[in-house]
Amino acid sequence: MSKELLRQLPRVNDVLSRDSIRELADRLPYDLVVDSVRTAIGNRRSAVLGGQDNPHLVAIDSVENEVLQLVQSRLEPALVSVINTTGVVLHTNLGRAPLNREFLADASEVAVGYSNLEYNLPARRRGSRYDHTSSLLAQLTGAEDSLVVNNNAGAMVLMLTALARHKEVVVSRGELIEIGGSFRLPEIFEVGGAHLKEVGTTNRTHLRDYENAIGPDTAMLLKVHRSNYAVVGFTDEVAADSLAELGNAHGIPVCEDLGSGCLVDLKPYGIPAVTVREQVERNLDIVTFSGDKLLGGPQAGILVGKKEVIQRIRKHPMTRALRVDKLTLATLERTLLAYVDGTWKERIPALQMLTASSDTLEKRARILSERFDAVLKADAAVGVEPCEGRVGGGAMPETRLSSFAVRVAPTKGSATSIDERLRAGSPAIVCRLDHDALVFDVRTLLDEQIDVLVDRVAHEILA
Ligand SMILES: *Cc1c(COP(=O)(O)O)cnc(C)c1O
Repeated sequence: MSKELLRQLPRVNDVLSRDSIRELADRLPYDLVVDSVRTAIGNRRSAVLGGQDNPHLVAIDSVENEVLQLVQSRLEPALVSVINTTGVVLHTNLGRAPLNREFLADASEVAVGYSNLEYNLPARRRGSRYDHTSSLLAQLTGAEDSLVVNNNAGAMVLMLTALARHKEVVVSRGELIEIGGSFRLPEIFEVGGAHLKEVGTTNRTHLRDYENAIGPDTAMLLKVHRSNYAVVGFTDEVAADSLAELGNAHGIPVCEDLGSGCLVDLKPYGIPAVTVREQVERNLDIVTFSGDKLLGGPQAGILVGKKEVIQRIRKHPMTRALRVDKLTLATLERTLLAYVDGTWKERIPALQMLTASSDTLEKRARILSERFDAVLKADAAVGVEPCEGRVGGGAMPETRLSSFAVRVAPTKGSATSIDERLRAGSPAIVCRLDHDALVFDVRTLLDEQIDVLVDRVAHEILA
């Protein structure tokens, strides 16, 4: 049976000579069309070999339709928007900080035409792209000067290269971290060309450990925020101000990779993040942080600190290689302005989510649950329940965000296969799966996404 079906499979040229496919091949790259034809035929062959015996599989009309769909899907962007109902706010895999629509609209206005990116309009001469954010960053962090690059890993490499290439940098063993992906501190040192001098032990490092390590080749004392893990029990680390004092006494810059760039006190909201200003006030020479973690802006690496040290870094040729683009700068500037005018909680989506009150979340969950109930009726058991989300982005691993979720347990069909279809559709939906139920944490759900979320879930469950 399967042999007979395999014999009936259309050949590549048979499919290519169909009118609709010929028409595609005329206007699109030929390889793209041929490749799609081969893929469709290959899919059919695998299905037959896998035991399927529907004659429809080898019908040329059916193959032709699959080719049309494959070509169509290859002409659509692969990077698309996702509805995040995981409750992880700065979800690294889902693009970290969501951005404010108005900020982006403003930024696109700057980018679609020309701008004063590197032009000083009043003076009628060349300007610097870093000037647009420097006074805002000074105001918000208390630092004398700043520099914005592509991301925080880039900021670190740049800082190490510009200040400590072929020299020694002293770091505590307890801070030699790996932050997912391929950010491992020793490797960042290698890229930056600086020699890592480890001091102390995993759980305890003392000021005298740093002091004893200082020699003629020491170019920097570095602290690294342990973003994604905690050392508990018999522990000790050296406070930034003591380290700054030690560095100053020896004329050695003291820097910190803070990871998350928190610009406001989030402790009242249960998020115990140190602010950039607190670290700057501890007299560190440079503090680096991400634009798209707790700051809630676009991907960027921000260095703030003492003027003389920032200037040394800015002059380094690698600054050019890590240069930040105009869309990022324009979005970042608008995000920073929302801190200055005090509207950060309302206008920066990540901060709005992180500071949402229990009342707001419960109300949103009740609305969502009623909407699900109204369309799903007997096809699912729907209920609101308390749950725990996380900050994400490798920040505050121990902090749990109490939230509310809507649990949808389909009465027919498996939650796993519904979840698979939710991830495959448009917009894609990523939720939590628990005991054959779909769980939607509402903290990371935007109000404007409720309609489409309900529609898509109903469509998949009632299908
Ligand atoms: C997240 C993080 C980084 C990397 O920042 P990116 O902006 O993702 O490049 C570096 N150091 C620390 C401590 C971090 O938490």
